[in-house]
Amino acid sequence: MAFLQEALDDSDVENCGKCRNCNPELLLSEEFDFDLANKAGQYLRRSYQKIRPKKQWPKTSMFRYYPFEGYRIPPELQASEGRALSLWGDAGWGQMVVEGKYVLGRFSNDLVHACVEMIKAWKPDPFPRWVTCIPSDNHPGLVPDFTERLADALGLPYVPCIQVYRKHRPQKGMENSYHQAKNLDGAFQITDEFRSGECLLIDDMIDSGWTLTVVSVLLRKAGCKAVYPLALAQNSPSVSFL
Ligand SMILES: [Zn+2]
Repeated sequence: MAFLQEALDDSDVENCGKCRNCNPELLLSEEFDFDLANKAGQYLRRSYQKIRPKKQWPKTSMFRYYPFEGYRIPPELQASEGRALSLWGDAGWGQMVVEGKYVLGRFSNDLVHACVEMIKAWKPDPFPRWVTCIPSDNHPGLVPDFTERLADALGLPYVPCIQVYRKHRPQKGMENSYHQAKNLDGAFQITDEFRSGECLLIDDMIDSGWTLTVVSVLLRKAGCKAVYPLALAQNSPSVSFL
């Protein structure tokens, strides 16, 4: 500040007393506390995100292929509350999720165990009886491979009963809620392998939440007692679920 004042020919130049030049003791310590960093990492690894079920569509009767009427999603067709293991790219599990998806092409067994621990803490009740996942065009084997290992670790059957029925554009490119939901109209169908007991529905990443919502409604319409969504990462901590 004094330098600037001088350069601008200020007649009344004083030291501020607040900066490092005026007082070297104000320097931040350069010591790095590994213990503290470890604790921060452990804290993040247990910071599970709640996935709250959506209760209404962006617009009334907006679907052409699906027989979803009206504006509200009736309670008997809604998903139950779910969990996301991390925030996309965070220093807990988030970086491992990004690496699995884009570098290794496989989600590690550490992530399987982390999800088992998360489910133990979460205690969905009644407990799911089978596990399924959202299919993806871009990385067709990625989520099914993970889901199979998770189901195995939980001692539950993996039932791949969700099929891509109509090709849809990537959800990422959709501008708003209306387009995100509309884009999924007719996108998936439930096959005969379907079971009626409570199910755990896996996806790698939750963004707007419409994919999990549409598939949950389809499963519940087919007769599934409860659908618990589980994602490896959530894109934003402030995803709004109305
Ligand atoms: Zn100063």
